Amino acid sequence: MINENLQEVRNALPQGVALVAVSKFKPSEDILEAYAAGQRLFAESRPQELAEKAAALPKDIEWHFIGHLQTNKLKMVLPYATMIQSVDSRHLLDAIEKACAAEGRCIDVLLEMHLGAEETKQGMPEEEIMDILFDAENYPHIRFRGLMGMATNTPDAATVEADFSRIDSYMAYLVDTFPELESFDQLSIGMSGDWPIAVRNGSTMVRIGTAIFGNRN
Ligand SMILES: *Cc1c(COP(=O)(O)O)cnc(C)c1O
Repeated sequence: MINENLQEVRNALPQGVALVAVSKFKPSEDILEAYAAGQRLFAESRPQELAEKAAALPKDIEWHFIGHLQTNKLKMVLPYATMIQSVDSRHLLDAIEKACAAEGRCIDVLLEMHLGAEETKQGMPEEEIMDILFDAENYPHIRFRGLMGMATNTPDAATVEADFSRIDSYMAYLVDTFPELESFDQLSIGMSGDWPIAVRNGSTMVRIGTAIFGNRN
């Protein structure tokens, strides 16, 4: 089933849109099934779960972190993640810079932009993202790769479309404003329920869980 689901999503995705398989809450057997079907890029949203799975699973899996990250949990994530997609505060960014500087390494990050209506939704407002990028030279161990966002959780496609259109426009604006950030080219939008809308609005990376692995208990 996982194999079929993966093929279905892959066949529908245009060239140039990466498929991130979101394996949170799913057992390693499910991940290995996707792995056997050729999937190498996976994402987790909880630090300990990422660390346990990544330590046990094949080393050529690439892991992204997509959940809310507390700075005291960074040490569980950094050894395994090649990208942190969910940087939602300056405080977290400072901690990542410091930890990577200490280890003499760089890491890819996406800045998570607040989208959608829900008050509790994570992510930073546009101005905060702008402030960080004006300050990019103070983060020599961070490679700013782009933006991540989650649309309003609603069945109303027009609302979702408006959210994705807004982040796509803001992405274009940032690319224009910061031409010196040469690898700032990734827009991570789109999940199981809304990825076709995201793809119409400039997504370069979709994060898909349930449409591949089935419902999470
Ligand atoms: C869980 C999760 C997803 C995947 O959601 P599905 O609806 O299962 O595809 C994508 N992005 C983030 C940040 C998530 O936490």
